[in-house]
Amino acid sequence: MFFNQREALVEKISTRLAEVRAEMADAARRAGRRPEDVRLVAVTKTHPPDVVLAAVTAGITAIGENYLQEADEKFTALGWLDAEGGAPVARHFIGHLQSNKARKAVRWFEYVETVDSAALAMRLDRLADEQGRRLEILLQINSSGEDEKSGIHPENVEGVLISLAKLAHIQVRGLMTIGRFDPDPEAARAEFRALRELRDALRAVAPPTVELEELSMGMSHDFAVAIEEGATIVRVGSRLFGSRHG
Ligand SMILES: *Cc1c(COP(=O)(O)O)cnc(C)c1O
Repeated sequence: MFFNQREALVEKISTRLAEVRAEMADAARRAGRRPEDVRLVAVTKTHPPDVVLAAVTAGITAIGENYLQEADEKFTALGWLDAEGGAPVARHFIGHLQSNKARKAVRWFEYVETVDSAALAMRLDRLADEQGRRLEILLQINSSGEDEKSGIHPENVEGVLISLAKLAHIQVRGLMTIGRFDPDPEAARAEFRALRELRDALRAVAPPTVELEELSMGMSHDFAVAIEEGATIVRVGSRLFGSRHG
């Protein structure tokens, strides 16, 4: 990319980032929360390495990717070779993780948001141990109750948490949900609130080694509602980088 094209891209992302951060801060204040208690994960899936670099220059501190093959190629091109200290941003995996791909996830990411079974968590723990790493994870919850969606059903989370208490190479930080898509941001409010209430209830019964500070919920169209309902991590793609379709 030519220098002026790169500058223009950084400029465009910086403008959008400032808007998103202002809306995030407003939503936090409306809920009596501190803006600095909500983190932005910029979802760079489908966007090439140039866009990721521009995002870093614009001030993004965490990125999210959904596909391991794509992340592998992108991070290799960027020279971000391994998870610890290899990149100028925190890397969050936010896609569906098949257990046969878990090794790659541990290699490239310091944070896996989409752990949807105790078996997967145990596998990640073993692989992190092999790689001399410690991995942060969130448990993905099927908060909409739709059976075909991935995620742990709310009634089963407590059992999963207890079975993870002794794993030394993963640190459970909280819960994540994708939620049912509805163009109306208000449609997600009840689901977001339910996830926060689930988190609060689990805190009372979770083993002491498990942390339940984080709630990753909300995307481009509904992050403000998610923050009002307690999100500590929002995952925003198209608002920062434009539509992924065309
Ligand atoms: C793609 C994706 C996002 C970002 O979606 P936008 O609507 O572009 O903000 C967030 N979370 C997950 C899990 C995603 O797959």
